[in-house]
Amino acid sequence: MSDIKIGVVSCSGEECFGGTISRLATRKVLEDLRLGEAVTICLPLFIAGGEEERNFAKVYPTVAVDGCSKLCAMRATEKYSGKVNAVVKVDEIIGKEKALEKVVSLRELPSDYMELVDKVAQEICKEMDKISSDILKKQAEEELKNSGECSGGCCCCGCK
Ligand code: SF4
Repeated sequence: MSDIKIGVVSCSGEECFGGTISRLATRKVLEDLRLGEAVTICLPLFIAGGEEERNFAKVYPTVAVDGCSKLCAMRATEKYSGKVNAVVKVDEIIGKEKALEKVVSLRELPSDYMELVDKVAQEICKEMDKISSDILKKQAEEELKNSGECSGGCCCCGCK
């Protein structure tokens, strides 16, 4: 398990299928697939404006998870905190039409919804892994630079 914490911010689309899948997939990542590696905030609370919530994206690298092309989670995070590192676009994974279907209650979800939740959750994990690997690579490069050491061999870094 990586000790890099990553913020996953889901849109709060209550009414449409894409928003519902965003929230369920984000929950699956937080509580199961990346337990302890992912943190999140409540988007409406964030928009309503506590300082702590708004410092969120300054403290953590972030992945926005959005149910449709309005990209509410990405836009709110970038407006109040900082640039997101990645966006998972649920409508591009499950199809635009399906994403916009109305959902009145969780009991009305189609029978295959868990497969779609899994698909989106895997995409979130993929983006998280990319972010962690970029951070670790950067840290390693900086450590090497600060140690003043050269990896040797055919060196063209200008250290000799
Ligand atoms: S991104 Fe789309 S689904 Fe999500 S909250 Fe905004 S309008 Fe609703």
